[in-house]
Amino acid sequence: KLYNMVQDLKGNIRVYCRVRPIFNSEMNGVIDYIGKDGSLFVLDPSKPYKDARKTFQFNQVFGPTATQDDVFRETQPLIRSVMDGYNVCIFAYGQTGSGKTYTMSGPPGRSATEMGINYLALSDLFLICDKRKDMMTEDDGLSLPDATMHSVNSTKDVLQLMEAGEVNRAVSSTSMNNRSSRSHSIFMVHVRGKDTSGGTLRSCLHLVDLAGSERVDKSEVTGDRLKEAQYINKSLSCLGDVISALAQKNSHIPYRNSKLTLLLQDSLGGQAKTLMFAHLSPEEDSFGETISTLKFAQRVS
Ligand code: ADP
Ligand code: MG
Repeated sequence: KLYNMVQDLKGNIRVYCRVRPIFNSEMNGVIDYIGKDGSLFVLDPSKPYKDARKTFQFNQVFGPTATQDDVFRETQPLIRSVMDGYNVCIFAYGQTGSGKTYTMSGPPGRSATEMGINYLALSDLFLICDKRKDMMTEDDGLSLPDATMHSVNSTKDVLQLMEAGEVNRAVSSTSMNNRSSRSHSIFMVHVRGKDTSGGTLRSCLHLVDLAGSERVDKSEVTGDRLKEAQYINKSLSCLGDVISALAQKNSHIPYRNSKLTLLLQDSLGGQAKTLMFAHLSPEEDSFGETISTLKFAQRVS
């Protein structure tokens, strides 16, 4: 109860951390401890053990053995609040390979138990809609040149649209000779209907698989690739600025500094609820990026 009150005082921003399993090809991990209370200890591999530990605090931390269902269960109440008229935005942040797409969509060729939040959220909303006969519209954004809007009536419709979206993301990234991790993937759902007391309901759910947050070495890339990297870094830092301004309850929120934050404005701030997943790759080689993800997460919470 007290914990909920503290959260309310802090506003509607939550940060969860998810650590993916360590792969066989990776040697040493840096994750020292994951607490049920949301604490996370990491070890700086460059320091002697007694000085190596750094501690961080989240609303929740999911370790390498957490299932998609474990993660969804802690996200479901937030998603359901869309049906009470709240706008909700869920982000996956982290370096390439840290598990963002796994959390939001699931692994490639996923089984039923490996479905990510996008699918589980939509199925859950349909479950409630079927009872209430609301109408849902899937919407790829208003002022985006290649975006399309589709009405959907079942989870199956949504699944097909999401798969088409994933294919488009992969195709456009190869045509630019680039990886799909260098783009943000935004899935927007608009809900219209009547709430439980017969009033008009209008709300949106934004599900965002962000571009990889890793720093690109300026000595290694040039031209379009460098411009693209700078654009991504700018949009991610603008997102950080917006969420931290909201967390501090500043009077000015710098939405206009990037297209990403402008596009997501409806689901950030005001009565909207925001959840950021900070994804970590546990291996030693990623320690620098892990710390930078943890600092980003600390800044917005
Ligand atoms: P990102 O989208 O951040 O680049 P991915 O989601 O593609 O990262 O994950 C990288 C690899 O790690 C993929 O092969 C993915 O299936 C695997 N992976 C990520 N998170 C998990 C997890 N929690 N459990 C099992 N495998 C995972
Ligand atoms: Mg990805």
